[in-house]
Amino acid sequence: MNGDFEIKYEDLAGRIGVLHTRHGKLETPAFFPVIDPSDTTITPKDLKSLGFDNFITNAYFLKKMQISSTIHSFFNTDQIIMTDSGAYQILEYGNVDVTNKEIVEYENLILPDIGVILDIPTGNSNKVEKVKYSVEETIKRGKEVESVIDNERIVWLHPIQGGYNLELLSFSAKMADSANKYKMLGLGSPTVLMKEYNYVKLVEMIYTAKSNVSRGKALHLFGAGLPHVFPIAVILGVDTFDSASYILYARNGRYITEGRVYKLDQLDYFPCSCNVCSRYLPKELKEMEYQDRTRLLSIHNLIKISEEIKRIKIAIREGRLFEYAEEKSLVHPSLYDSFNRLKKYKEYLENYDRRTGEKGIFLITRNSLWRPEITRHKTFMKNYKVEKNSIILIDGLKIRKPFISSEFVRNIREKFPEAEVLIFYPYFGLIPINVSEIYPLSQFENSKSLEYEVKRDLLKTLAEFCKSNDSKQITIYASAKLAKKIERICKAELHYI
Ligand SMILES: [Zn+2]
Repeated sequence: MNGDFEIKYEDLAGRIGVLHTRHGKLETPAFFPVIDPSDTTITPKDLKSLGFDNFITNAYFLKKMQISSTIHSFFNTDQIIMTDSGAYQILEYGNVDVTNKEIVEYENLILPDIGVILDIPTGNSNKVEKVKYSVEETIKRGKEVESVIDNERIVWLHPIQGGYNLELLSFSAKMADSANKYKMLGLGSPTVLMKEYNYVKLVEMIYTAKSNVSRGKALHLFGAGLPHVFPIAVILGVDTFDSASYILYARNGRYITEGRVYKLDQLDYFPCSCNVCSRYLPKELKEMEYQDRTRLLSIHNLIKISEEIKRIKIAIREGRLFEYAEEKSLVHPSLYDSFNRLKKYKEYLENYDRRTGEKGIFLITRNSLWRPEITRHKTFMKNYKVEKNSIILIDGLKIRKPFISSEFVRNIREKFPEAEVLIFYPYFGLIPINVSEIYPLSQFENSKSLEYEVKRDLLKTLAEFCKSNDSKQITIYASAKLAKKIERICKAELHYI
């Protein structure tokens, strides 16, 4: 049915989904490039040839141009088209000369696949009265057109406002979510944050919005057009993005890569092999006519955006979105800070994360200590009680995986059938041998150069375990190096392996 959203694959709170529209299925995560109807530098046909089956344009502009045919015949395409409504123009110029009802009726006439009401963006304001007005007025406007919107043919998006005022933002999200006629939701106006590279605030906003709406609705993030922002947004549950960045940057001679934005002047080489970058040198592009250069840079920028979306989808399919986002977070200090902010939301992420994976997980840095699989295992171990009186702890770094079939473990279990055997391992802490085959307790790879926090975490876990089982007989098999440390924290019989 029009507007239905199916979730195909999940990783953390991110997912690969399918949104049903009148012009076909849109696979998410997806990026909607902005098309200005009065500018032909990049056309919908160009977008199609670059693999974009969808774009967003502005109903307010089309109305001003007095276009009255359907939007698909105006653009002569069968791509999925979303229309924004002029809210961005309110943000830029303070007002527009059209009412919400007029724009919605106009959208009903031109029939985009996805339509947006004329909301009031919060923008960068932190004045409570102003934020409150934008939140309340947006809710009011959503309600006032409920009887007007064409739900059969258009998927309607309800914007969420509130800016950095997280309390008002969460109220706005709840209200938008409860408006049943709107099958899609969109987080409004964080463009300023992105311009300022304030990704921590962006993460807080996305989390606040997403944790207050239904899982089954697609969430759009307005105005996000730099590829390095996508992984962290998808992790938290953003499904679609839109931006004109590809062309705005191109007009200023700016070249987008997966990690950053360069000025053409800064580049002697292009770190890309797309059609544009393999044909020209930066110097040649710089000397080109403005219009030609803008077009070519736009094409390159769009290719980079499209590649990032694909890489994210691959990471979701592999169940490695966490590792992927961590890797990407190293391109900018603020992005790394925003990645670390996810730690605050580890329960939320754990809640959504799938329970099984096809591929083993990679544990590389200390950040893995709070990834969902580890958090889940630690919660499980908090309630785990050893029933037997004799306990054997084995240093997992000294034996082979899967632990249960390691020769050393088998010998120990045969020799001491009355004892309960647990493996101790960095990141996980303790792993009872009987559950060691549950994903991912034997399906992981870890770096052997352990960071201080990881070592400290393991010793702390061991100390707490020994303390809470001090009435029992504990035997530990560990490497000589580790045994010396354990000796100080555990009352146990120690053997070197
Ligand atoms: Zn390129």
